[in-house]
Amino acid sequence: MDEKLLLGQVLTFMDDPFARGWQAASRHSTRGGIVLRDGRIAATGEADALRRAHPRAQVTDYGEALILPGFVDAHMHYPQTGIIASWGKRLIDWLNSYTFPEEMRFGEASYARTQADLTLDLALAHGTTTLASFCTIHSESVTAFFEAAEARGMGVVAGKTCMDRNAPEGLRDTPRSAFDDSKALIETWHGRGRAAYAITPRFSPTSTPDQLAALGALWAEHPDCLMQTHLSEQTDEIAWVRGLFPQARDYLETYERHGLLGERGLYGHAIHLEPREIDRLAEVGAAVVHCPTSNTFIGSGLFDMAGMKARGIPVGLATDTGGGSSFSMLRTMAAAYEIGQLRGTPLHPAQLLWLATEGSARALHMGGQIGTLAPGAHADLCVLDLASTPAIAQRSDRAEDIWEALFPTIMMGDDRAVRDVWVSGASRRG
Ligand SMILES: [Zn+2]
Repeated sequence: MDEKLLLGQVLTFMDDPFARGWQAASRHSTRGGIVLRDGRIAATGEADALRRAHPRAQVTDYGEALILPGFVDAHMHYPQTGIIASWGKRLIDWLNSYTFPEEMRFGEASYARTQADLTLDLALAHGTTTLASFCTIHSESVTAFFEAAEARGMGVVAGKTCMDRNAPEGLRDTPRSAFDDSKALIETWHGRGRAAYAITPRFSPTSTPDQLAALGALWAEHPDCLMQTHLSEQTDEIAWVRGLFPQARDYLETYERHGLLGERGLYGHAIHLEPREIDRLAEVGAAVVHCPTSNTFIGSGLFDMAGMKARGIPVGLATDTGGGSSFSMLRTMAAAYEIGQLRGTPLHPAQLLWLATEGSARALHMGGQIGTLAPGAHADLCVLDLASTPAIAQRSDRAEDIWEALFPTIMMGDDRAVRDVWVSGASRRG
């Protein structure tokens, strides 16, 4: 039996710290351990007890480093890795100036694979073990991403981004081809190994009602798939949607009318929502995904985390690269904290960490499988050095509890803080 035992500080969540309070929802061990077997977590506990119970396990001792679930990035665009940190545009100009010219290149399978490999290696270097990515209209872009993830043992979510209007020649499909190509990709990839397919209309402005209806019909045929899209990111985008869909009462209804509102739906951004939209999201149990570095970088607005959580709406956390400005979920947590401060509702580090792990996992309907150290989950782990730079070390030295020790790394940390990352029970650092 091939068992591995990792030792270090260990933080586990028993519950959502938004619902139960962070003290009751979490447990910290200064000298804990995790047993891995067959790519899964077999046990967690105190180091000494686990050593006695598993005497033949191969031990990796991380000392004072903190063992966590790997981060889960619930919304990003791997085809935009090459254009991250492009200057000076708001959403619609951003798409036309930077995104669409780059996405044109993904019809070439070798280029798509190069960018998929690059993105997944960057994610792993930052401690992220699962990503939900938009691809491009090209099936090749989806295949490249799933193959690159499979080669690394990673569980990912991806889908062909469908657009049949308001996009340049070469980046448009049709209602029929969007349906057929997505269906073929579902049949090849959904549930193969750790791959999960998300039906992916980019957003209402780039799909005709016919295309949205075709994708709604596809989702009805494959209700175990996720559906990912964008919702109410910027006010001028919302005005555009109102012009394109005069019969719809609001942005969410453009999806709802076409069978694209459901419990397994993931709605990125969701900043400027109408009361009816919030009510419907809550009734359906659909998830929204907060992308804080993107929202500040593109100037979109301040997401209402407290309002969403108070309504019981599942919330994931995400980088939204390349509209987001960092591959790091640490930097993403920091930006979520800053947006909370600007709204007068600061988030506790336990809440930030939970959002970046179990919160995102639950939004992706992968709770219990990823984003947790619970036995039975995939052994996807991130090991954080809580003293990775002199500035962080001098602050964490003064900490009186684990949250005070972790918060400087959340606010100031980057890939230098990632001591190791494990995927499906194997260390990616060797
Ligand atoms: Zn996005």
